[in-house]
Amino acid sequence: MKALTVLRSYLEVRRRRFASRAALLEWQDRQVQAHLRRVVARSPFYARRFADLPLGEWRSFPVLEKAGMMAHFDTLNTVGLRREEALTAALEAERTRDFTAQPRGLTVGLSSGTSGHRGLFVVSDAERLRWAGAVLARCLPDPLWAAQRVAFFLRADSQLYGSVASRRIRFAYFDLMQPLASQRARLEALDPTVLVGPPSLLRAVADAQAARYLRIRPRRVLSVAEVLEDFDRARLEEAFGVRVGQVYQATEGFLGFTCAHGTLHLNEDLVAVQRDELGQGRFHPILTDFHRLAQPIVRYRLNDVLVERSRPCPCGSPLLALDAVLGRADDLLDLPGRMGGRVTVYPDFARRALLAVSGPLEEYRIRQTGPDELEVALQPLRAALEAEVTHELRLVLGELGAALPRLRFVPYAPPPPGRKLRRVERAWSPEASCSSGR
Ligand SMILES: [Zn+2]
Repeated sequence: MKALTVLRSYLEVRRRRFASRAALLEWQDRQVQAHLRRVVARSPFYARRFADLPLGEWRSFPVLEKAGMMAHFDTLNTVGLRREEALTAALEAERTRDFTAQPRGLTVGLSSGTSGHRGLFVVSDAERLRWAGAVLARCLPDPLWAAQRVAFFLRADSQLYGSVASRRIRFAYFDLMQPLASQRARLEALDPTVLVGPPSLLRAVADAQAARYLRIRPRRVLSVAEVLEDFDRARLEEAFGVRVGQVYQATEGFLGFTCAHGTLHLNEDLVAVQRDELGQGRFHPILTDFHRLAQPIVRYRLNDVLVERSRPCPCGSPLLALDAVLGRADDLLDLPGRMGGRVTVYPDFARRALLAVSGPLEEYRIRQTGPDELEVALQPLRAALEAEVTHELRLVLGELGAALPRLRFVPYAPPPPGRKLRRVERAWSPEASCSSGR
């Protein structure tokens, strides 16, 4: 039964073809309207919210954000789950790392985020299985009948991913919170054909391979959960000798994947995406998922900043192509301008600056730690490299109209297991410093 649900979803996604983008959008419109009829029939929150609105105009419906989603959790979900109950279950699962004891055939989890801003999400078993089928359809190198062994490294939630096992395919879940050394024997025994994990974990596996401490030969490597920087992608492709694919996902859904040309496309045949424009091809996606019913996602704005691809992708897919996922809006730097005032700087400045560095740069991380201060962590930390990085940062920031802030160089340290690696991060908030009377 379970395998059948996965297979059906797999085949649906694989077989779907659209003659043009217009055909895709027309089909999507019908799917969304049919789905919205189901949503308003079951969700008191959405029924009230859309009461006087014709469903055909869903593209201009009011936008919901994480805070609203959480505030109305009890009446928004369609499975009668209370926020307190869901939160208790999710925290208990994280604490015990036992994700099998979930309420009533549901998977409840917490999205990552700064404390106090974590979102609760809930999916039904059927939704979870369909999700697994869609990921397989998009990401496996060969048809499902070629035997695959998939190693999934994730922070939590074996339920979500450990659901597929048959003669032809084996999923094994590895806990990101455990050190790699303790999972090495199991990983080698599985000898995965597909390796899936966040870039920081993939780097650790690649390093272990290089040190001849670990031997596996994946034919497909997939980066999930964190933004995959070009810096990391190049190193991973060199280490594994295969192209590294990227799955772009959030607890809000399976949002995108890289095609055979390495371009990230949005899964617009699963989720409708509108744009909250930020200028220069950048936008916040506004999602309407036309499959999920346990916790309907309708006109939901993500904090992520996406960049539309400037040229069409050679694969010819009608699904929107992206140049980059720039990460969360919270990580946009706020730096002093060259002509006074403040300038918003997108995280990709660091990639541009550091790619130009000629010295051997193995790792980096940049954090804004004050109104006029960046902490720059480098490996190796050497005076010559510091000078070169300073020079490149001055050039790139100058082009963006920002003055070079004070730079504080420190040795690079990897994030603790299970913590996301964010190469560019804003650890200082303008609001906080204003209210403290600065
Ligand atoms: Zn493509």
